Amino acid sequence: MKRYFIGLQSLTQSQLDAWVIQAQIPARSGGKLPDYIPGLAEAQPDWLAVHIRNVNGDIYASGDMTLSFPLMSAVKPFVLLYLLEQLGAERVFDQVGMLPSDRPFNSLAQLRADEGFPRNPMLNSGAIALMSLLPGTDGLSRCENLRQWLNEKADCHLVLDELILESVRSLRNETNIAIAREIADAGYLQASVAVTIDTYNQLCCLAGTVGDLASLGMLLVPFGDRVLPENCRIVKALMTTCGLYESSGSFAVQVGLPTKSGVSGALLSVVPGEGAIACYSPPIDAAGNSVAGLFLLEQLARNLHLSVF
Ligand code: GLN
Repeated sequence: MKRYFIGLQSLTQSQLDAWVIQAQIPARSGGKLPDYIPGLAEAQPDWLAVHIRNVNGDIYASGDMTLSFPLMSAVKPFVLLYLLEQLGAERVFDQVGMLPSDRPFNSLAQLRADEGFPRNPMLNSGAIALMSLLPGTDGLSRCENLRQWLNEKADCHLVLDELILESVRSLRNETNIAIAREIADAGYLQASVAVTIDTYNQLCCLAGTVGDLASLGMLLVPFGDRVLPENCRIVKALMTTCGLYESSGSFAVQVGLPTKSGVSGALLSVVPGEGAIACYSPPIDAAGNSVAGLFLLEQLARNLHLSVF
């Protein structure tokens, strides 16, 4: 009789270890390190870690659990969650849309085509617009407020990675500045361009391990009164439709889990009602998504039948 393995709880450690070894191959051949942030280009291409947690508290981990990395865009779902909790959906979606985009994550052309109204909160434009809503007087206090909230709610240990922040600041990101100006000119920015960009840069440099990233992911698998289930639903829907930028549609077909990436090689998937999968491997594909991370998610989703569809 054929045996079916269904759900995260059917994962075995030896299966996970085998996939982690296999994931090195696509990472080596198909991925590149981003060079526009020098600190990210210094990562080792063979760094790899995965941490999976389920609602029963079981943990499966493989690779180097001590690696700490900046979240980069993997922080975006949590900026959205925080603002939904603080301000409500109506206020948040006055500031940013819900439409997917087939353009790259930092596309100024997309923003211009949309007359300065950011398409969704998973793109740089949408996250930048949301930065201007965060409470605090400057980049440091805005980032610190969110960091403390996340650490408390998710029971994790995010820190500001000062070295990466210095590296981000060392090469002025003209595209992100132009995006902030475009949003400001259209009347959708609630703070100065300088404070908004500084907040964005600092938040992208919040860093932790895959264990921390999985803890953040568990915030989106609601239990108790940590966050409103309704807000989790909104965040997961936007991760599914927009979280991997132009790859979101094909990923929904191949894997089918709400997922968010960052150019550092961070990758987080939520398995609704079941748990969270956090991966880290620095080489990324042309869309900015971790190659080894995508490989691992594909193995997990296919073999454990995790797709939400
Ligand atoms: N800080 C990065 C940037 O603005 C984050 C982008 C990403 O992770 N995709 O380019």
